[in-house]
Amino acid sequence: MEEIAAKGITDEKVLKAIDKIPRHFFMDDIFVKFAYADQAFPIGAGQTISQPYTVAFQTQQLQIQKGDKVLEIGTGSGYQTAVLLECGARVYTIERQKLLYDKVKTMLGQLGYQPNLFYGDGYKGLPAFAPFDKILVTCGAPFIPELLVDQLKPGGRMMIPVGAGEVQEMTLIIKEIDGSISKTQLGQFKFVPMLGEKEWKQGY
Ligand code: SAH
Repeated sequence: MEEIAAKGITDEKVLKAIDKIPRHFFMDDIFVKFAYADQAFPIGAGQTISQPYTVAFQTQQLQIQKGDKVLEIGTGSGYQTAVLLECGARVYTIERQKLLYDKVKTMLGQLGYQPNLFYGDGYKGLPAFAPFDKILVTCGAPFIPELLVDQLKPGGRMMIPVGAGEVQEMTLIIKEIDGSISKTQLGQFKFVPMLGEKEWKQGY
């Protein structure tokens, strides 16, 4: 928590969440001793648990208010989900890797967290539960999925790393009350790719 505060995170809710959540629960046994290092680690199925600084940065930019309805794409380890819940959000999260979905379902329950978990394709979002106050994409998207922007409330914020390569540009999307969209680039980050149906079937 002190390390990411030193790196520029100031939102008290976010810092408290990072301080409170036992990250070692979210990691594979072999990496447990590194659980409190500010680094990403493999979580199986070729995926990673994001670096705490990245989790904190994305969450801070969303300006989470208590009771916000948040859509997360890429549940992964569930760590980011827990941070959102600790900040007072109501979380809807989608994971398309069955192994991780099953794992996270059991684990978050054991820790007492109760997000709405979905196994499915994040590109589609959750139209049945839209609109969302905030949307958080935690995998590298080759483009900004229009369906997700559609599911953002006027006045809402969305954070999405955009780029087809290994490095993406963190992008903040704000939907104004009149429905107009503004985009701000906030620096480069590295995420595992957001996969589409075709790549998934090819076993990318
Ligand atoms: N938020 C996670 C980060 C996990 S890495 C954490 O805190 O641990 C990104 C995750 O996005 C991976 O688990 C990957 O399987 C998932 N993902 C990739 N493409 C997706 C898609 N189209 N829909 C939903 N999840 C996707």
